[in-house]
Amino acid sequence: MSFDTLGLRAELLRAVSEEGYTTPTPIQAQAIPVVLAGRDLRAAAQTGTGKTAAFTLPLLQKLEGPKGKAPRVLVLTPTRELALQVEESVRTYGKHMPVRSICIFGGVGERPQQDGLRRGVDILVATPGRLIDLHGQGYVDFNAIEVLVLDEADRMLDMGFIHDIKRILKLLPVKRQNLLFSATYSDDIRGLAEGMLKDPAIVEVAARNTTADRVKQTVHLVDQPRKRHLLAHLIHSKGLEQVLIFTRTKHGANRLAEQLSNADIPSMAIHGNKSQSARVKALTDFKGGRIRALVATDIAARGLDIDMLPAVVNFELPQVPEDYVHRIGRTARAGAEGEAWSLVDRAEQGMLRDIEKLLKRSLEKEVVEGFEQDPNYVPEPIENGRGRGPRGPRPGGGGRSAGGSRPSGSRPSGNRPSGERSGSGRSDAARPAGRGGSRHH
Ligand code: AMP
Repeated sequence: MSFDTLGLRAELLRAVSEEGYTTPTPIQAQAIPVVLAGRDLRAAAQTGTGKTAAFTLPLLQKLEGPKGKAPRVLVLTPTRELALQVEESVRTYGKHMPVRSICIFGGVGERPQQDGLRRGVDILVATPGRLIDLHGQGYVDFNAIEVLVLDEADRMLDMGFIHDIKRILKLLPVKRQNLLFSATYSDDIRGLAEGMLKDPAIVEVAARNTTADRVKQTVHLVDQPRKRHLLAHLIHSKGLEQVLIFTRTKHGANRLAEQLSNADIPSMAIHGNKSQSARVKALTDFKGGRIRALVATDIAARGLDIDMLPAVVNFELPQVPEDYVHRIGRTARAGAEGEAWSLVDRAEQGMLRDIEKLLKRSLEKEVVEGFEQDPNYVPEPIENGRGRGPRGPRPGGGGRSAGGSRPSGSRPSGNRPSGERSGSGRSDAARPAGRGGSRHH
């Protein structure tokens, strides 16, 4: 199947082919005609399936016609990373069309976003908190909205955004098209979908573990103190030019990035304590090949859109087994193949078993020559004290009751990026200087 048969206009087909895409992914093949036809859509699709293009392409097509100042499409996302990526897709696929887009999120100054809105925009991509703030200040006009997209709706609910979403829904014109994307379907999502979608087409692709099945996964049993040496050895010996590495803590991410840089592997850490501008720079440098290793915590890495990432390394296993699947899902995207290495210390054996139970298979174990485990080495207990004990709140998401009520300090590494709202109460107080996120073409 080719893109030509989907009914997209030439400008979009040209942009798609310039991206090097030849075949629509299953979600694209199914969703694009539905969206073009103006129907509501409920889609079960994870990151990595090509879902962003599945809604971005047909929405761009629908923007033909006279332009006013007020936005006609609203895309809500749980995090600013995802918002930035969606807006980047809008620019990429819309580059041969006169489309104005803007990205609205917390944690940066409001001014550039206000200015952008004032100048006029067609596609508004936003996280809920800042959008409500700017609407309250009179900068956002929802009257022209024709299409609403909820991207990663399950994560939005996990992050406590349900009230914000309901509030925004009430502000939108009643007559509109609604698209809801979610990797999972909990009762909460079902409730939201039922209240919001009219006779939706339902598209479901690629069950959760299919990405995991495409990734070649290897476990290296190694003592914790030797991990960074083994990692440097793997990167050098396998000639990895671009590798995403996961650590459990922000501190660990910083330390490892520094150690790798000292070992001649230019690296940067990306996590919730970094300013927005530092995170954007790290991602840009990584994509541009100026840094070879990006060291990330789980939350910072969610939704990171990096094309053709060949390798992912778990420097430490995640506390929550599902995060392992998220992590390795960063590689082998949209049909490509990828590799994932996990460096596992004896203290992490229990976590490894939990992961294998989730995957319903055991992972290949390998000891690299020169990095054998020392029988006399006594492993340190897992940093931040949770080890493989009873499951606490999922880092940065988890409990339905989450929304900001969780006592600070009870969340392990990789909190939600600073500056994003936490469900109740504005947390936009700290505003690191950064780019406003407004773009016009
Ligand atoms: P997404 O699921 O939207 O995060 O997209 C996952 C990745 O797949 C992104 O890096 C896209 O650039 C890429 N992608 C999207 N559509 C296609 C396609 N039809 N062929 C190849 N790659 C694609």
